[in-house]
Formats: sequence, structure tokens, C-alpha cells
Amino acid sequence: MLTRPCWAEIDRAALTGNLQHMQRLADGATLAAIVKGDAYGHSLAICAPALRRAGAEWLAVTSTDEACAAAACCAEPEKDNRILVLSGPFPGDGPAVARHGFVCAVWQRSHLEELQRGAQQVGRSRLAVHLELDTGMSRQGVSPDGLQELLPSLAESPAVTVDGVMTHLYAADEMDRAATDSQLERLAAGLQQVCHWLQKNGKPAPQWLSVGNSAALLDRAVRESLLGMAAGHGMRLLLRPGIGLYGVAPEFDPEAPEGCANLLQELRPVLSWRTRITSLRRIPAGTAVGYNATYRAQTPMHLALLAVGYADGLSRRVSPAGHALIGGERVPYLGRISMDQAVVDVSRIDAEALAEGAEVVLLGSQAGHTITVLDHARWAGTIPWEILTSITARVPRIAMG
Ligand SMILES: *Cc1c(COP(=O)(O)O)cnc(C)c1O
Repeated sequence: MLTRPCWAEIDRAALTGNLQHMQRLADGATLAAIVKGDAYGHSLAICAPALRRAGAEWLAVTSTDEACAAAACCAEPEKDNRILVLSGPFPGDGPAVARHGFVCAVWQRSHLEELQRGAQQVGRSRLAVHLELDTGMSRQGVSPDGLQELLPSLAESPAVTVDGVMTHLYAADEMDRAATDSQLERLAAGLQQVCHWLQKNGKPAPQWLSVGNSAALLDRAVRESLLGMAAGHGMRLLLRPGIGLYGVAPEFDPEAPEGCANLLQELRPVLSWRTRITSLRRIPAGTAVGYNATYRAQTPMHLALLAVGYADGLSRRVSPAGHALIGGERVPYLGRISMDQAVVDVSRIDAEALAEGAEVVLLGSQAGHTITVLDHARWAGTIPWEILTSITARVPRIAMG
């Protein structure tokens, strides 16, 4: 049993509520619930089965390793195993992908070869993949020029079946939509080319058009363009929300699309991160606090020690700007965050709220006050995705709801 008081509570009801909310918004598109990075730091073992039970047909992860972990914790029969591997197959992945029937993003010849070898090894005659097009992000996917070359090599990998065409929108949060419009144009052209080649070569038409993160899903104009493009080819749209599922609204630039504000408010945060006061002390004026005395008390102060540090994923940059909550009140971090501990100023907190063992909220709500993932992101100079995935394995995740 773990006794160090530093833990994260995972609200399964909030998670499945967010899934259902996004599903309602999706106008009939199918959702692939993104659970890469240990479900954005929320624990794959807690989130994947909860999402499946709430009706997520598709889960998406980064790698075959993560896909195997997801399949194992959902204990599901292979035929329902719709698990999308977003980063493509790595060398050696073929047999596991083929055995489980995972659906990999593919965009280069080596992917096709790896999967064909894997399919042969396990005696599988058809392995569905999603062919990824690079529509402007230059990260993964085949370029328009490369497509012409790649398509013929599909003929050399007879088990590999293009069941979907995918791309990734890299600026779906930018409301001028210039980048997205240009990506959609390239997608339409690439899709046309893929469908034409498949038809000419007597191969089945792809079923899925897989595009769009949380921001794209929430932006009605983008969603409608994608639905229209999918329908034009007799395909179904697969949207891929991640951050929204965990109750964090994407930040749109300069502001959320029209009609979106209410929708965003319905997303409920899933993770709350807590610790306890482990020690209290009073210090006289002039006393240093923490490494290198970056803080020195100007007046007598009352300090609380917390069982959390940067080895738990609390960024050193939350001090001095950030705060935690004790008894529903803000308590600022003082001095440097240590590897395993942090100090907060409780000089202005009522004595009744202060005791060894009193609960402290690092992220989440207490007595009507809330510290959001976005607060942490601002203090640490980063984005919500990085805050959530930085909470380390040392912090146990506890399922609630
Ligand atoms: C992570 C990821 C997503 C989800 O993005 P969010 O902004 O978290 O919704 C969607 N698609 C791909 C390819 C991803 O890698």
C-alpha cells in the first residue's frame, strides 16, 4: 500500500460524460478516443475500459506497445479491437499488429513491408491500415509527390488493405482557418488520387476518412467540411478527440468559434491532483525558504510542507507565480520546488484549516475554488497537454465514479 500522500483522482463519470458530449456534437461522425501517453496522464488502465464501456468504438494510441497495453486492459475479443496506432508501425511491430488486428497509420514503403511480413507470419490475409497524407504539417504522412510512388507498392503487400485515409490538422485552433483550408484542399486532392488508384486496381474503396482533433470537432465549420468530404466519397468520418475528452477545452485563437462557448463549458475536468500538509512551521522575518534562498521572508510567516515535487511532475516553474488550495483558499508556492517537496505560504489561512494531514489541491477544485490545467500551463510556460502528461508514474491514479 502506498502511504505517501500524493495522488491523482480520475473521475470516470466526467470522462464518459465528455465522450458522450463530444459524440453528440459530432453530427453522426464516429469518434476515436485518443488514449496515447497513458491516456494523457490519466491512466490507460482506468480510462480505456471506461471509454469502451461508454461506447467508444475506436481507441487511438501512439504505438503498437501502447495498443497492446490498451487491448490487454480492455480484455476484448479481437473483432471489436478497433485500435488505431497513430505513429505507424515501428520495425518489429508487424506480427503483433497482425495478431491483434490493430489499424496502423502508414505512409511509407517500410510500413507496408513490415505489416505484410507480420501478416504472413501470423497467417492473416487482410490487415486494414489508414493511409496518412501529409497535408502541410511535415511530420508524418506521405507528400503529394510521394503518393504517386507509394501507391504501386501497395500491390506488393497484398494483405495490407487501405481501409482509411487520414491526415492531421495542425492549426484547427486558429480561427482564421487559413492553414486548415489549405490542408483540406490538399486532403481532397490526395483522397481523390487514392480512391482513383484503388478503384483502378480492383481494390475495395476505403471506409474511413480520419481527420480532426478536439479543436476541429468543436469547430462546426471544419466539422461540416469534413463530413461533406467524407460523404462525397461514400466514406464515414472518424474524428480523433484527445484533450477534450479529459475535460480541457482547446484554446482557440483569437477566440472560440461562434456558438462554442456553451459547448466548452459542458466539458468537465477528469483529473484532480492532491496531496496533504506533511509538516507546518513558523519562521521569523529574514529567514530563507528553499534551495538557494530564492525567497526570504520579509515578515514572520507560517509555512506548510507538501508531499509533491518535480519528480512527481510539478514543474519548478510553478513557483513563484503559482498556488495550491488549502481549505478552499489560495496558498502561493514559496522558493524553489524541490524534487519531492514543495513549500506554500499559509500565513493568511485560518488555523482550523491547518493541520498535518489536511488535504491540499494542486489541480482541481476545493470549496468552490478551482485550479485548472490551463493555470498550470500558464505558470509553467507550456500547454495543457504537457502538464497532464508530465505527472509521473510515482503519482498513483485512483479511479472515482
Ligand atoms: C494526439 C492526437 C490527436 C488528439 O489531439 P487533441 O488536440 O488532444 O484533441 C488527434 N490526432 C492525432 C494524429 C494525434 O496525434
